[in-house]
Amino acid sequence: MRAKAKIDPTATNFDEVETLNAAKQEPLWDLTPLFPSLNDPSIEHAISESSTSADAFEKTYRGRICSLNARELILCLSEFESFEEKLENISLYASLSFSANMTQPEVQTLHDRVSKIEAKLGKQLAFFSLELGALVKNKPEIIEDPAAASYRHMLERVYRRVKHQLSEVEEQLIIEKDQFGVNAWEELQSKWLNTRTFKIKVKGEEKILSYGEANGLLTHPDRETRESANKTIYGALGKDGEVFSSALRNICNDWVNVSTRRQYQSPMEASLVSNDTEQNIIDNLLKAIGNQALSYRRYLKLKAKLMNLPVLGNHDLVAPLPSAPELKFTFEEAETLVTRAYSHFDEEYSTAVKEMFAKKRIDVPPRFGKRNGAFCASYFTGKSAFILDNFAGALNDVYTLAHELGHATHDYYANRSQTLLNTNIPSIVAETASIFGELLLTDLLLEEAKSDEARKQVLCLVLDEAGMTAFQVTSRVWFEQALYNSIKQDEYLDYKTICSHWITARDRIFGDAVSWFPEMEAEWTMKPHYYMANYRFYNYPYVYAQMFVYALYERYLQEGKAFVPKLKQALSAGSSKSPKEIGSILNLDVTDTQFWDNGLKVFERFIKDIEAIL
Ligand SMILES: [Zn+2]
Repeated sequence: MRAKAKIDPTATNFDEVETLNAAKQEPLWDLTPLFPSLNDPSIEHAISESSTSADAFEKTYRGRICSLNARELILCLSEFESFEEKLENISLYASLSFSANMTQPEVQTLHDRVSKIEAKLGKQLAFFSLELGALVKNKPEIIEDPAAASYRHMLERVYRRVKHQLSEVEEQLIIEKDQFGVNAWEELQSKWLNTRTFKIKVKGEEKILSYGEANGLLTHPDRETRESANKTIYGALGKDGEVFSSALRNICNDWVNVSTRRQYQSPMEASLVSNDTEQNIIDNLLKAIGNQALSYRRYLKLKAKLMNLPVLGNHDLVAPLPSAPELKFTFEEAETLVTRAYSHFDEEYSTAVKEMFAKKRIDVPPRFGKRNGAFCASYFTGKSAFILDNFAGALNDVYTLAHELGHATHDYYANRSQTLLNTNIPSIVAETASIFGELLLTDLLLEEAKSDEARKQVLCLVLDEAGMTAFQVTSRVWFEQALYNSIKQDEYLDYKTICSHWITARDRIFGDAVSWFPEMEAEWTMKPHYYMANYRFYNYPYVYAQMFVYALYERYLQEGKAFVPKLKQALSAGSSKSPKEIGSILNLDVTDTQFWDNGLKVFERFIKDIEAIL
């Protein structure tokens, strides 16, 4: 996933983009392998089949899962999987159709109908997860039973989760009270953002813009426009700082209560459980990043030089270099580049990529009514995936394509080797092939760059992105930890206190390499993740994934071709093995305190490359 808007904020409207792309005839995806059309009777047929299959499953298993032996459990799990496979094709078809054409009435109708069916079937089969939890809790020896070997790790994860489950009534009460209680803070924050307008100077001309439009200007090529957007947005957010701090203070305090009641050791533990990782691994990771903050700052100082600035402003962090003529690509060029990058690594490894193009699994052009950004959705029964893209021809768009095709490659291998329940890959592993794909593209682009100028653009893009993902995100983890430490010490989290935690964490990374507008103390107020109740510490998985893949890439450079089958094996494992075990397939020991330094070497090398051409 890359949650970045890929649409040029300077384009006046979508219609222009659409006409342009229609002329170029960029490919749309072909969803007919799922269903022939929106109104085809086979959709009704599939819906009634999943309903029947859910009824049959309920009839056979409700109240009985707790007493199953290992052999019976395997049968139960595979029956559950075949129900899920049926439902997943309908859900996938409805959600992909919706993402591509949100404004079409028949798409909306199908999407709404399928959401309701999912909710109904989800409720009907909620007993499955509860009873499976009870079985594993009461008979933990079933995890090690050789008859259940193919689901061993899945059952281990259930066991780890179930220890923190409350009684059925307590769980229901939490859901009911959260719905109109702590969840409301998230609604308040997004309502605030979406109901304001901002007066921003765009290339010297004052414009009144919505939050979405204003936010798009934060990376505008014109520096004064970026400054105006930053100061206006964060200035306005800061004025209502006490409102946002009320929200965050209450969400965090609520989480302390909930996680204590659930017997988590710390406010971070729930997130460690769902990411299938451990505290000491994450502590080592954050420490390693903290120790290397100086090399990131070295890059930021270089970037200031490239932009002819004495010091980088916060609004320059991910800004494009002003001097460079922008690299532009047609979609065909992007396709060729990415395919070659994957083939260079290994011919067979590029099969999934080629198939994604050949079978029309990618929806390419931006248009009105289509979701922005890009994502890759696994297509389990097709042993493949679908990619929604918004290709606009910039270098960044070629990277997005390389990234999403990495996800498709991961799906290609995992969907061939695993059953459905073993493809529930936690985010720290799910980004392996995608970030690796970006590195393969970087290698190819650097090798073939025709000028230092082009090389500089590639390196800056890569370092900007890696710097944000590994370093800036680490400061956000520290910020979140600081909030909980404050609560533990009975400190009151008012606006200024929260801002001071934000600034302290931020400066641990950026030091003297960046000068910040005073308004930026309010930067935390607009991050939607902080307002999502019961979803804490969303951040470190991004850092983990980036550094894990950098370390893995370093290993590839050392081992050469011998590394190829190991990577395929790791991707084929899906979620049937823990992230630690997946590391060991690749000869990587994520529990080693020095492990993360291997990833940082790759980062350091990119900086040296850019220093060499200055
Ligand atoms: Zn991704």
